[in-house]
Amino acid sequence: MKVRTRFAPSPTGLLHVGGARTALFNYLFARHHGGEFVLRIEDTDRARSTQEAVQVILDGLDWLGLKADEPPVYQTTREARHAEVAMQLLAEGKAYKCYCTPEELTEMREQAIAEKRPPRYDGRWRDRDPAEAPQGVKPAIRLRAPREGEVVLNDLVQGEVRVKNAEMDDMIILRSDGTPTYLHAVVVDDHDMAITHVIRGDDHLTNTFRQIQIYDAMGWKKPEFAHIPLIHGADGAKLSKRHGAVSVLEFREQGFLPEALCNYLLRLGWGHGDAEFLSRDEQIQLFTLEGVGRAASRMDYAKLTHLNGMWLRQADDTRLRDNVVERLAKADVTVGTAAMQRILHLMPGLKERAKTLEELAASSAFLAREMPLPFEPKAEALLTHENKEMLTRLASVLENVTFNNEAIDAALRAFAEAEGRKLGQVAQPLRAALTGSTTSPGIDATLMALGKNEALQRIRAVTT
Ligand code: GLU
Repeated sequence: MKVRTRFAPSPTGLLHVGGARTALFNYLFARHHGGEFVLRIEDTDRARSTQEAVQVILDGLDWLGLKADEPPVYQTTREARHAEVAMQLLAEGKAYKCYCTPEELTEMREQAIAEKRPPRYDGRWRDRDPAEAPQGVKPAIRLRAPREGEVVLNDLVQGEVRVKNAEMDDMIILRSDGTPTYLHAVVVDDHDMAITHVIRGDDHLTNTFRQIQIYDAMGWKKPEFAHIPLIHGADGAKLSKRHGAVSVLEFREQGFLPEALCNYLLRLGWGHGDAEFLSRDEQIQLFTLEGVGRAASRMDYAKLTHLNGMWLRQADDTRLRDNVVERLAKADVTVGTAAMQRILHLMPGLKERAKTLEELAASSAFLAREMPLPFEPKAEALLTHENKEMLTRLASVLENVTFNNEAIDAALRAFAEAEGRKLGQVAQPLRAALTGSTTSPGIDATLMALGKNEALQRIRAVTT
C-alpha cells in the first residue's frame, strides 16, 4: 500500500503556522514512507474562498518547500460526486430524507437546551413514511447512523478514543439545496483520493467520529488518523495575532528563512532526542508519528529567532545577498553592481551578527548607500574634530596599502601605535565614517568589502 497523505486547507486568506505545521507533518510522513503528499483546497465556503486566498496558501507552501506531488484538488469541483454518494446511501436505506423546516430545527434545539439536554436532531424523519412529506419542502439527506454501540478510533497520536453512537445524532450529509456538508465531502474526497493517513489538527477529532460513521455506511476502508495538538501562544491561549505573527507569509516578511521556520515547527511538539538543528533530509529520515506529543505546543518567538540565526549562518551567501537586495529595494535603497559585490564579499561577516534577514538587510544597507551616508547619532558623535584629523592621516596611510586582510590589519596596527591610540580608538571612528553606524563586521573585512576607492571616498567625505 502506497502511503498517501494530504493537506486540506480551507482558503480563508492566510496560511496559519498551525496549518503549515500540519502540512509539514503530512509532507514528512509521506516522504519518510516513500509515499505521496497531495493538496486539497476545501473551498466549499464560496463566500470566503477567493482565488487570492488560494494563492496565499500555494505561495506559502511553495515558500516552505512543501510542494504537493499532484495538482491541487478543489473540493467544489467534486460536488456532483458528493451528491452521488449521498444518493447511494439513500438508495441503500443508509440515509433518509428529512423534511424539517429551519423553524422546527430551531425549536428542537431550544427545547433541548431548556431541558438541559445536548441539542441534537431527534431523528423524527428517520422512520417516518415519506408519503407524509410536506408539499414544497425540499428535504435534506441525513445519515441513518447506528444508535447502539460505539465508534472506536485508534488514533496514531491520541491513542484509543471512543464515542458512543447514542451521543451522535443523524447528521446531514446533503443539504436541502443539494450541496454537501463539510463532514461528508471530506470523507468522499479522502476515499476517492486514496488517502491512507489523515494527519490534522486535534480540533477535528470530534468530526472524525462522525466521518467514521460515513465510512462504515459506505463500507469503505478507513484511513489511519493522527490528530496533532494545536499551537498555542506563550500564555497557553490559542495562537492569535496578539501573540505575534501567525501567518506564514508574515514570517517571510519579517525575515525568517523557510527552512528555519520548518525546523522550528517540526521541533514544536515533535522530538527526536536532543537534535535541534535538522536538515530536510534528516527530518524525512527521522520523522515518525510516535515522536509527536499530545500536549498543545507553545510558540516561542525567541527560540524561533535563535534558530533562524543558526540557519542564516549556514545559508548560501549569494542567496542571502539576493534576499537582502530585494529587501533594500523595498526600502528604496537601490543596489548597484559594485554594491552587490560588496554585500556578497562581506556576507560571511554580516550573517554572523544577524538573526533575521531584516536585520541582515539593515546591516548591509551601508554597503549599498551612496554618499552622503546617513549617520546614526552614535556614529555622528564619534566624528569629532580630533577624530576627523586622525582619519585624514589614516586616509594617506591607506592610500599606500595594497588591500588584503593582512596588509590592512598590519597598517591599522602600525597606525594606531604611531598615533598612541588603542586599535579600537582608530577602528570606531573609522567604522562610523565607513558605515554611518557603530556596528559592522570586523573593520578589516569592512574595508575589504568596500574596496580601497570606496573606502577612501567615504573617509574623505567626512574629513573634508
Ligand atoms: N479544511 C479543514 C481546515 O482547514 C481541514 C480538514 C481536514 O484536514 O480534514 O481546518
